[in-house]
Amino acid sequence: MKIAVAASEMFPYAKSGGLADAVGGFVRELSRHRETLGIIPLYGMIERKKFGIRKTAIAFSVELSDDSYPIEIYRAQEGNVFFVHHPLLCEGESLYESERNDLRFGLFSHAVCVLVRDYYPVDVLHLHDWHTALVAPLAKERYGLRCGILLTIHNLAFQGIFEKEAIETLRLGWELFTMEKLEFYNRVNFLKGGIVYADAVNTVSPTYAQEVLHSEYGCHLEGFLRRHVPKITGILNGIDEEEFDPANDPALDFPLSRRSLKPKEKEKGALCERLGFSDAHLPLFVYVGRMSDQKGIRELAELVRHIKDAPLNIVILGSGEPYFEALWHPYAHCPNIRVILGYDEATSRRLYAAADFFLMPSKYEPCGLAQMIAMRYGAIPIVRKTGGLRDSVVDFTDRSPVRPHRSGVGIVMEHNDLVSFMGAIIKALGLYADGKTRRDIILSNMKMRFSWSEPVREYLELYGSIMPGGRR
Ligand code: ADP
Repeated sequence: MKIAVAASEMFPYAKSGGLADAVGGFVRELSRHRETLGIIPLYGMIERKKFGIRKTAIAFSVELSDDSYPIEIYRAQEGNVFFVHHPLLCEGESLYESERNDLRFGLFSHAVCVLVRDYYPVDVLHLHDWHTALVAPLAKERYGLRCGILLTIHNLAFQGIFEKEAIETLRLGWELFTMEKLEFYNRVNFLKGGIVYADAVNTVSPTYAQEVLHSEYGCHLEGFLRRHVPKITGILNGIDEEEFDPANDPALDFPLSRRSLKPKEKEKGALCERLGFSDAHLPLFVYVGRMSDQKGIRELAELVRHIKDAPLNIVILGSGEPYFEALWHPYAHCPNIRVILGYDEATSRRLYAAADFFLMPSKYEPCGLAQMIAMRYGAIPIVRKTGGLRDSVVDFTDRSPVRPHRSGVGIVMEHNDLVSFMGAIIKALGLYADGKTRRDIILSNMKMRFSWSEPVREYLELYGSIMPGGRR
């Protein structure tokens, strides 16, 4: 079985968020089992020298309605990754800030089709999010590709919606501009096209696959998704266990152990000293993540307003929308609260390792990596019961015999309003005082396997069900 995985970002080459981590970790594991080709754009910011990226002999033109676009294919020295180059797609300061994203990712999608048709035939084409979703209709309607197509949705909130002229420019054909296909309120929706034409669609957790069928989470596609239910499943992401290994993390002063909490306590002491907290014995609550509505930042700030004088320490690390960053300005001088606005990988690792509790009150969470990293680094997650959080964390008081098979233990809130949140904090303080239960939870979480091997097995099953001629 040969597989091509096309995405707009992939760690370590190009990353703007969790999508790159997921695609990078997944491709690394998948290629241990099957012949796998990764395909991403060769953005200007990708360090060609560092990765030994060189031009190949493969070059072709993509004919769009207004012009002919010459494409060059590059390849990294290690790993089976192809990079698609055209100045329009690749030359810009950032991955997505452009007025012409319809043309950029439409062109990329055409290039993926040509590559797979003429140079690297595969059994399965695996697409990720709206940036590559258009490959599915193009492959079937324009390029006559016969491979199985899987579309993975990492976040339904981003759909790639553009003016309808894109239908013409990208040579999709007006017959695709219908409500059942790519049309969306008189505009064109790339993700919708992917959902229609893919042989299977999955979200990045089983719970999110259910949630998106309802208006609260469906981003106006819930009715449309309900019509495609038979081909929609959910597979929980993994994390790269080598990358997130608390026993071998250069950012930490004390490598953590899965048998003893001593190093974690020392790491916490070091962090509290660094941040100038006067009492390191108080429970430490941490948030690491984007400052956005999705992450429940408004609710978190409201909680902090109510508990700021309680006997605990809080650290918030995040960056994002100015409105949500500004919510933290009132806490600049609180002795037991530190707010770090920015993106800082090393600090995030130290926070995971030092924290007693990790706060993740997301409104919705397609999968979420942070709660898994937190558990591996011995921070007990406090999460809202939604999406991947629901599938990876069970409440420590939950005695139900049925529990998701790749889940750790934490504190689970039904909602993320203030009452639920206060209840969770009270539970956390009780747990902090109960040394034995807390120790057992932390050490069992640290031993939990959140690797990619299990998800890759599930994806291979799914590939087998969609590839022409059945499994090989
Ligand atoms: P999302 O992809 O929705 O942003 P995830 O939980 O899936 O959320 O992944 C977020 C990843 O980014 C985690 O690895 C988290 O540690 C990291 N991260 C988020 N914000 C920051 C920050 N300000 N500094 C360092 N790392 C961060």
